[in-house]
Amino acid sequence: MRQGLHGQGASRGSALGRARVREPHALEVAEARVAPAEAEAELARLHAAIEQVRGEIRAMRDQLHGALAHEVGEFLDLHTLLLEDPELLHGLDELVRSGLYGADYALRLQRDRLAAVFEGMDDAYFRSRIEDIDHVIGRVHAALHDHEAELQGVAGEILVTDAIAPSEIGRLHSQGVLGIVTSGGSMLSHTAILARSLHLPLIVNAPQALGAINDGDVLVIDGSTGEIVIEPGPSDLRVYRARLREEKRERKQLRRLRREPSKTLDGVDIRLYANAESREDVAEAHALGAAGIGLYRTEFLFLQGREVPDEDAQFRAYRDLVLGMTGRTVTIRTLDIGADKADNSGLALRNEPNPALGLRGVRLSMARTGLLETQLRAIARASGYGPVRILVPMVSGREEVIAVRQLLTRVLKDLAREGQETAAQIALGAMIEVPSAAIALPTFARDLDFISIGTNDLVQYLLAADRNNDALGDLYSPLHPAVLRLVHSVVRVARARGMPASICGEIAGDARFTPLLLALGIEELSLHPSPLLEVRRAIRALDLGHLRARAPALLRARDRAGIERWLDAVQPVHAAD
Ligand code: PEP
Ligand code: MG
Repeated sequence: MRQGLHGQGASRGSALGRARVREPHALEVAEARVAPAEAEAELARLHAAIEQVRGEIRAMRDQLHGALAHEVGEFLDLHTLLLEDPELLHGLDELVRSGLYGADYALRLQRDRLAAVFEGMDDAYFRSRIEDIDHVIGRVHAALHDHEAELQGVAGEILVTDAIAPSEIGRLHSQGVLGIVTSGGSMLSHTAILARSLHLPLIVNAPQALGAINDGDVLVIDGSTGEIVIEPGPSDLRVYRARLREEKRERKQLRRLRREPSKTLDGVDIRLYANAESREDVAEAHALGAAGIGLYRTEFLFLQGREVPDEDAQFRAYRDLVLGMTGRTVTIRTLDIGADKADNSGLALRNEPNPALGLRGVRLSMARTGLLETQLRAIARASGYGPVRILVPMVSGREEVIAVRQLLTRVLKDLAREGQETAAQIALGAMIEVPSAAIALPTFARDLDFISIGTNDLVQYLLAADRNNDALGDLYSPLHPAVLRLVHSVVRVARARGMPASICGEIAGDARFTPLLLALGIEELSLHPSPLLEVRRAIRALDLGHLRARAPALLRARDRAGIERWLDAVQPVHAAD
């Protein structure tokens, strides 16, 4: 029967397809038995999954060095111990061999048994280890399911699940998934950013989805509005088709702007750079006439495999990026792993008590011996092929910039001595996304060649509102007077020095906010290629002088509602054709 649900549209596009429901946890597994003749094969499958997880943990362990080795190592060792626990293994063997339970159900029974033992302990520390049991059992369960997923694939289906890791989304996309609905998640997560980059419709924060949608249900989803229709009727299908036609018409209208300049009505050039992660993004950015790449998030190179990419592998990726942009400037951001971008390679801490405030970005790059140097060498070598800038994430103040600058100077000298071709100098910039850096910018602006304002993180740190926590509702919002005032002051410092300043957070890719950013003094934006033409269309319909004259009113707004009213009053009108 037809049913409508709502979530938050996180990546645009509509999709019509059958639902593939992925249950959130091994614990949901229902009782299933195997025939006596199949028990040994089932056990072999389970052992293979356990061995796979052991191997994964071993590989992570081997890659730990320096500051991370101790803390993460302990955590991984505990997981290895759990996986080698004779009682656990013996229990599983018994359950499959004698009880004739399927591997999933045997895992669930063993999890419950172990959890009961830990729950009964007096010590809170041991009780809290249930989380580790869940983690380990969950990994084995996932390994078991990977085999199945590979067999069945998700091509032509809409995945419905509790959460999606950034490292999963590329694989799902290449398998041909049509769209994704998650019960949790947020629009600002890296998963959502990646989905937009892949043009994969994504709806997040749809809490009823898992309860209401069954495997095989037909769904229509709209990644703009967050609308989900289960078992659509004829009128829903008509609406869906009309929406596809509208999306096509809009794309055609926007395509005409590909070779047009991004100039305001009063003739000011606003430079539109692209945020690009994949080869396709780079090609699209080039084709749409982006001024260059304003943000290349290198962490996605590190998320792909289980290995930390070495200097040559990184060099090839950066060089290809530079070559792909044929002489336009490419801004490569050093590694920003941490928090929600925990990687397969085991670089990032997984169990930090407060990961967004922990060892991420430049802090991790500097804590791990050789990591930053290798990356700077690879980027510097790529600078021999075209203009490159280096952008440092999570800078909190001057010291980090000075340390990276010194290392970069040394790396350039070393490479020259080795006879490698590099640019004589490489511009070094900082992400302004930590409030301390934004406030203290006047004290270290002279140490920088450019800045890029990372509003995704700046908003979360300024408002103490986790960018990935959907429970916070509207609290996480760039439309807070504190955010606008801080961005305005940062832009003023940069302009006073004649230093290039862009915004590369997701706000830059939302054409509704373009008038606000221009009013605040921004003349450079870096955004994903998919909304680039929409933002160009907005710029071409705006008068910069008029917006700047209205900036004081914007900065005087006392709350979000006042800022919304300001925005509504300055929205350009686009003629339909
Ligand atoms: C930001 O924080 O605004 C940003 C662009 O960086 P990321 O989203 O990768 O943290
Ligand atoms: Mg950031």
